[in-house]
Amino acid sequence: MPEGDTVFRQCAVLHAALAGARLSRGELRVPRHGAVDLGGWEVLEVRPRGKHVLIRMRGPAPERRLLTLHSHLVMDGTWRVRSDGRLRSPRDEGRADARGKAPHTARIILEGVRPDGRAVSASGLDVQQVRLVPTGRESELVGHLGPDLLDPDWRPEHTARAAANLEEAGRRALGIALLDQRIMAGIGNVYRSEICFLERLHPRAPVSALPDPAATVELARRLLRINRDRTRRTTTGGALGREGGLWTYGRLGRPCRRCGTRIVREYLGDPLRADHGERSVYLCPRCQALPDEAFVQSVS
Ligand SMILES: [Zn+2]
Repeated sequence: MPEGDTVFRQCAVLHAALAGARLSRGELRVPRHGAVDLGGWEVLEVRPRGKHVLIRMRGPAPERRLLTLHSHLVMDGTWRVRSDGRLRSPRDEGRADARGKAPHTARIILEGVRPDGRAVSASGLDVQQVRLVPTGRESELVGHLGPDLLDPDWRPEHTARAAANLEEAGRRALGIALLDQRIMAGIGNVYRSEICFLERLHPRAPVSALPDPAATVELARRLLRINRDRTRRTTTGGALGREGGLWTYGRLGRPCRRCGTRIVREYLGDPLRADHGERSVYLCPRCQALPDEAFVQSVS
């Protein structure tokens, strides 16, 4: 499952390739928009919102309508961008999780010419939630999201709002609430494990066990920002020198970097959302000991 930092990087690559391009071909291979032809449209910008991708476009004269093409990577989506004859995937840039995808998985195909005269094409492979809406109505698609942790215009009130959202979720399990994009947007499976570790809390501990929700929001934001421009994700900062790396995620059976206890894996899904299957969460059973059982059972 892509994290907000991955989506941020993909959007940066898409924006660099497509902004200003005049489309010669624009196909949406989804039933809802199968008849749409975006030929003649101009791409204005590509922006992330949490883990959602927003491609803003302007239509041909005389109407010059403003539309936003929305998509989401969900679990396996990725974008391939070809510009100046080179084929590359933002995900392929040194990332271990790059995987080959056949062209027939394309749900969005955009081709055009950039202002500098070079041809460009972008394919959204296995992307989901493809929607085309007037730009003024973007909020219908992303308005439910909490503050976007990678929002370049982040302000103290965003921290306060996300912290208030966490407090409101006090009885829910921390490991589930961190994935709830309505609380704050951008955290995926990797960061939820890492944040629980850094807070020294078991993922099944209630959100109310957080000593300072605003500090947790700032922690999450710092982790995503550190990794926004990196291809090899790290949450351990300078503590491990140049090795970098993660505290718990993907380290099953390996020693905790703090206490040496073996890292374990559990599965934790949101009971309120049938569409969200149980996902793996990694933890140190010693650093992140569960509070007493009665306390935990009161967590919904
Ligand atoms: Zn430990």
